[in-house]
Amino acid sequence: MHDLSRGRRFAVSGTVQGVGFRPFVFREAEALQLTGRVWNDGEGVTVEVFGPPERLDALERRLTEAPPPAARIERLEVTALSGLPPATFEIAPSVTGGAPRVAIGADLATCAACAAELDDPADRRFRYPFTNCTDCGPRFTIALGVPYDRPATTMAAFTMCEACSAEYHDPRDRRYHAQPNACPACGPRLALLDGRGAPLAGDPLALAGAALREGKLLAVKGLGGYHLACDATSPAAVAELRRRKRRDEKPLAVMVASLEAAAEVAVLAPAERALLGSVERPIVLCRKRPGTALVPGLAPGNPRLGLLLPYTPLHHLLLAEAGRPLVMTSGNLSEEPIAFEDGDALARLAEVADLFLVHDRPIASRCDDSVARVVAGRPLVLRRSRGWVPRPVRVRRRFARPTLGVGAQLKNACCLGRGDEATLGPHVGDLDNLETYGAFEAAISRLETFLRFRPEVIGCDLHPLYLSTRYARERAAALGARLVEVQHHHAHAASAMAEHGLDGPVLALCWDGTGLGTDGAAWGGELLRCWPERFERLATFRPLPLAGGDLAIREPWRVALAALLDAFDGDAPLDLPLFAGVPAAQVEVVRRMLAGRFNAPLAHGAGRAFDAAAALALARPVARHEGQLALALDGAADEAEPGRYPFELDGSGPVTQLDLRPLWRALVADLHNGTGAGAISTRFHAALAAGGAELVRAAAARAGDLPVILTGGCFQNAFLAERITTELSGSFKVYLHGHVPPGDGGLALGQALVADAVARGE
Ligand code: ZN
Ligand code: ZN
Ligand code: FE
Repeated sequence: MHDLSRGRRFAVSGTVQGVGFRPFVFREAEALQLTGRVWNDGEGVTVEVFGPPERLDALERRLTEAPPPAARIERLEVTALSGLPPATFEIAPSVTGGAPRVAIGADLATCAACAAELDDPADRRFRYPFTNCTDCGPRFTIALGVPYDRPATTMAAFTMCEACSAEYHDPRDRRYHAQPNACPACGPRLALLDGRGAPLAGDPLALAGAALREGKLLAVKGLGGYHLACDATSPAAVAELRRRKRRDEKPLAVMVASLEAAAEVAVLAPAERALLGSVERPIVLCRKRPGTALVPGLAPGNPRLGLLLPYTPLHHLLLAEAGRPLVMTSGNLSEEPIAFEDGDALARLAEVADLFLVHDRPIASRCDDSVARVVAGRPLVLRRSRGWVPRPVRVRRRFARPTLGVGAQLKNACCLGRGDEATLGPHVGDLDNLETYGAFEAAISRLETFLRFRPEVIGCDLHPLYLSTRYARERAAALGARLVEVQHHHAHAASAMAEHGLDGPVLALCWDGTGLGTDGAAWGGELLRCWPERFERLATFRPLPLAGGDLAIREPWRVALAALLDAFDGDAPLDLPLFAGVPAAQVEVVRRMLAGRFNAPLAHGAGRAFDAAAALALARPVARHEGQLALALDGAADEAEPGRYPFELDGSGPVTQLDLRPLWRALVADLHNGTGAGAISTRFHAALAAGGAELVRAAAARAGDLPVILTGGCFQNAFLAERITTELSGSFKVYLHGHVPPGDGGLALGQALVADAVARGE
């Protein structure tokens, strides 16, 4: 046994650099009257301390129980230390070695200590919108380069006053080495501009609050871009915002002042409260409370609403001035990336915003709000951006060479893998116009600069028309890097494998809208047996023809018709509420397209089955955005309903097919006998969950009991994910995503993992 009585060494690894960990240790050690030193090294932070054993124990408890908010301790190794104790405790210079790690942290929500200063009339930062400290404030969005130091941030132009400088240099102060440290005397300033960019005289916060209360639309410069804000309790203001932003039905997020205010408008589970209040401060999809002051149309046809708490001092102050919940939606016109440069924002948002609440601290990197929800009692990140980026995902399987995953065409985010770290980039959005493509290139190049990263292997999708694929090809040719094309669903599975440290083989249910298969067909209802470098396709959905191709995604009635024609052998019943909303001539045209297989490619996507069921159950022929109807169907589910529709497994071919024809026949019978949408929704979801579980059991009978992964955009659906998990958890270890999105926003991580494995095997 070691004698641990005199001195101890704590080797701490995880996210412990750039989060104020060393000054935290310094302050704790001093408070306990311990001597020694703390420093950053290649693996994390090392602490050497000397003193009485009970106080060394106390320090160890403080390290694990009360670390700084952004720190994540993954491992703490304790060893005995002998030798003469030093006279003081000090922060020693960093010891560097090995590959460089991301020294730039993610942006952190305002901490409680800073929020208290904002409200304290005696404090020199009373009502100062740019208050921050080592535990909170901007990081990634103000960084211009590495090392992350004030001159390499957009705070470089501001010279700290004496008081700020003293805090910055004092290890006993919570602003020790807080790079964006500032105060009203020396830091950034707020201004309120009219629609033409001319400043208004008066207190910008008070004027902005008054304007919001009058129903005006305000562009607000935030951390990673501009928001558009308006009174969330004013039907006129919300309608005007939708009209000007050309955003008819997409849900709008609402910022509320506090957890108490959130609980007034939503029913919150403990895990949802924790997520709302986390340092990442994502938009959290919460169940609406009926009959509140909020405008009903914020998330039309959806029982859930995106809520978020203030995450900058400016938000805290603005919410207090407005005195009501505010819509906070990204500052852009639909389909464009969020505006983050001042000139561009003024130009692009001039027709949307009445006023601009701005400041003179430039935003260096665009970074949208993240979106998350609670599934099976745990957080599930649906859009991983501000608050998480660029915190790396630690992977068990080290990357052999620097590897870039370029992501998908939709919901794009990139991933840079090196050593045991995978760094996912900010949410870019759908790569279908020049602006988003520019944002995509900028996101990659900025992260490459921060990481001093030059890809030697590049992973992309198989789809030749994805703009990300084209980029990958050109980039690989220019760099002489190895290009690996990765099948879409293999990448989804690998993304979850990377997140959970699974080396394979695994059974992966990969259910999403669509992804190109190795046979040239559109896949999306797949059960794959996966290894990092390869996969086998074990099962899929019985395919449906999509009349008009992608048009069928926006007009799910086409998919519903295809499903019924298939289920009723060409004699589909059309006396259903859905078809009352579609002109008969159109139905006839599509029926002929489907019968003749004219412009009607076969698709296996699980997402299409959800679309068709939603269209039928809700009598809604058209979706304004992908997944809208599926989400509404999920929301309509009646939890108390015990039934489920029948289905069959067809094992006659090399790839088992989940055959939903019995389901469609039973669903039509329900529509004919007047069963409500709630029961239909539940019976449908229960059938898909049972079908997925049945596919897994059948596959396991052949392939053996392997870990089971649930991945793909369909698993944003809590009902589906929770049901399948319940069905399987008795016999299998089931893995859902957590901090990496199950949808295409998490795809790049899987591409990087597979590309590394393939390139390494050659
Ligand atoms: Zn703070
Ligand atoms: Zn100052
Ligand atoms: Fe996908």
